[in-house]
Amino acid sequence: MYGVKDQLRAELDQIEADGLTKKERLITTPQAAHIGTTQGEALNFCANNYLGLANHPDIVAAAREALDEWGFGMASVRFICGTQTQHRDLEKAIADYVGTEDAILFPSCFDANGAIFEVLLTAEDAVISDALNHASIIDGVRLSKAQRFRYANRDMAELRSRLEEAREAGARRTLIVTDGAFSMDGYLAPLEEICDLAEEFGALVMVDDSHATGFVGEGGRGSHEACGVMDRVDILTGTLGKALGGGSGGYVAGPVEVVELLKQRGRPYLFSNAVAPAVVAGSMKALEIARDSDEPRQVLRRNAELFRSLMDEAGFELLPGEHAIVPVMFPGDDGARKAAEIADAMLAKGVYVIAFSFPVVPRGQARIRVQLSAAHSEDDVRACVDAFVAARDEVG
Ligand SMILES: *Cc1c(COP(=O)(O)O)cnc(C)c1O
Repeated sequence: MYGVKDQLRAELDQIEADGLTKKERLITTPQAAHIGTTQGEALNFCANNYLGLANHPDIVAAAREALDEWGFGMASVRFICGTQTQHRDLEKAIADYVGTEDAILFPSCFDANGAIFEVLLTAEDAVISDALNHASIIDGVRLSKAQRFRYANRDMAELRSRLEEAREAGARRTLIVTDGAFSMDGYLAPLEEICDLAEEFGALVMVDDSHATGFVGEGGRGSHEACGVMDRVDILTGTLGKALGGGSGGYVAGPVEVVELLKQRGRPYLFSNAVAPAVVAGSMKALEIARDSDEPRQVLRRNAELFRSLMDEAGFELLPGEHAIVPVMFPGDDGARKAAEIADAMLAKGVYVIAFSFPVVPRGQARIRVQLSAAHSEDDVRACVDAFVAARDEVG
């Protein structure tokens, strides 16, 4: 390694000295509301397991049956010999659920976002991106040669200015891209306003609905359903790794031509292995549950409402909203330390939540991000609030 090992060690030491080291907590059980860890049992409030499907018996059964029927691995990318009929069935079911003509699976949503911009946009085109968009959108945009514009989070006046700049720059195609729900604060993108602006400027709209598909909107179809613009969003990306079973895989959903072109030119589709058969079957079952049953969504909504109202009563500062992501705010210079200490104290009481501070969120806006799940019971939610109160008393 010619001394590189020492250089890397110094870099790691600096990350540690800055207090930014991320440590893996080792889980000893399946993903659930109640988990075991190598440091004891914990009530889990930091999974993306919104509908509680990650260890749902029907999904486990579907995946187990698929192991027998479809085998373990594909050992091929999709276009060579990696497409089973069930891959296409899942793609059609996703498209039908989110309301597009077709969809295409990727190994992850990270890869879906890695594919789409390069395929859709050239140097003649423009992409206009919300400043808080997910890292995979930022990376995907970098892979394209399009001119890049950025607007402050959900700031429609800035979006309009960027659209004007893109038009003045003579862009052939202009694509507006936004997360449907922003992961650090649970806010939805103002999709109706975005679609209005897109229409005015002749731009396309793409929404990454990873933190929405399955549970946001009346039927769980996503942020575009919640905002009443299901037929106005052109392209959606999403993940099978969150509400829809939490296995793995992602997709692009949109017009047939977009899907067909991705099959010709989408690099993660062409050069990375197909989603494993058991994951496809389990994800299909998860999608069916999300589509056919309102109950997990209702339980999730009840849990989020209960948590928000109890925390409000207890005097905590929350970001407003209805999303199952509930940020508990610790503002000011001392907030980062306080949030971290409270999260530690809560874990000692068996409640697992995560504190976020700069640079993940803006300076002075430290928070503990609580994620509710349909797998939580009312008692679980109350236990979480009790732990917040006790930890606050302890930390002062
Ligand atoms: C989680 C997430 C992703 C990544 O999804 P994977 O399938 O895990 O790669 C992409 N975009 C957004 C907005 C996300 O929240």
